[in-house]
Amino acid sequence: MLNEDTAPASSVRSRRFSSFLPDISAFPRPIRGRLAPSPTGYLHLGNAWSFLLCWLAVRSVHGSLILRMEDIDIQRSRPEYAEAIEEDLRWLGLDWDEGPDIGGPCGPYAQKERLAIYEAAIAALEAGGRVYPCFCTRKELRSLAGAPHIDDIGAPYPGTCRNLSNKERENFLRAGHRASLRLRCPDPPVNFVDLCMGPQCFRLEDCGGDFALRRSDGVVAYQLAAAVDDALMGVTQVVRGRDILYSTPRQICLQDLLGCASPTYAHIPLVLDEEGERLAKRHKSLSLRELRLAGAAPERIVALLGHLAGVWPMGRPARPRELISFFSFDKLPREDVVISRADIQMLCA
Ligand code: GLU
Repeated sequence: MLNEDTAPASSVRSRRFSSFLPDISAFPRPIRGRLAPSPTGYLHLGNAWSFLLCWLAVRSVHGSLILRMEDIDIQRSRPEYAEAIEEDLRWLGLDWDEGPDIGGPCGPYAQKERLAIYEAAIAALEAGGRVYPCFCTRKELRSLAGAPHIDDIGAPYPGTCRNLSNKERENFLRAGHRASLRLRCPDPPVNFVDLCMGPQCFRLEDCGGDFALRRSDGVVAYQLAAAVDDALMGVTQVVRGRDILYSTPRQICLQDLLGCASPTYAHIPLVLDEEGERLAKRHKSLSLRELRLAGAAPERIVALLGHLAGVWPMGRPARPRELISFFSFDKLPREDVVISRADIQMLCA
């Protein structure tokens, strides 16, 4: 039999999930955070806000930071965006200690290179009787890949395929239907204390019910990839927008079922435009690229975001490292923040 530690890379598919669990002695520093961009477009001010706060939360406690490219959805991800994201983060003044460009002990740091690990996790969940095939079509259900947002939870999965008999499953397969894989969610509620939003208690049923682990086209779902990566990369603190709050119970549930520790979470307020709309990749003019072309200096962007976060006085340009000693979760606003047209004009003045 092959020794798992010395087995060639091609045998990685047959490795058991437990063999991927991290040796926590490899993480001497107390806090490990991660920047986890999806390379499906250029970074905008909303991303810059989340990443700056994540970076400050880690650097203010002398922790270490991972850059992880969430390029699992190969149809929507583009290598040129991944490159641009790294460049824009550096331009802003953010750095990381491990990542696709510099490597590190928990690599690879691009999700498309971690498929064997996700398959091992799915196999472990399957072995625990937690996975079932679902034959509902994409048309019948809303798309399940990508990072979900509150509005995207939509109607809970009604459990249509949860209790199909083997015969029914065979019939679907024989008729050429392709199955996605879903997690049979446990009933007990998931509790956690959010560093921004306080104690949280969710029933998975209220977070969309049995969620997909792998789509019918074979793409591994965001929930699984993120939960597995946070666990295996030894992430201890996740800072991200509050639009992802409803994903957290699902990710904690997966980590629990896989026998891994969960990080602590901080779901921060979102950045809105003047119309009250969440900034998104469609706000092209607010991409860091466009702002840079329009003459905005990164120090002004950082100062604006730092001011909105309550950790920097209005006006004085700053590099991220100048904000480190002022950062505290307590100072963050409770409500979403608005970036006005006047703010943008000031950035480019
Ligand atoms: N890749 C996700 C996004 O860009 C991040 C999700 C997360 O932080 O867990 O929205």
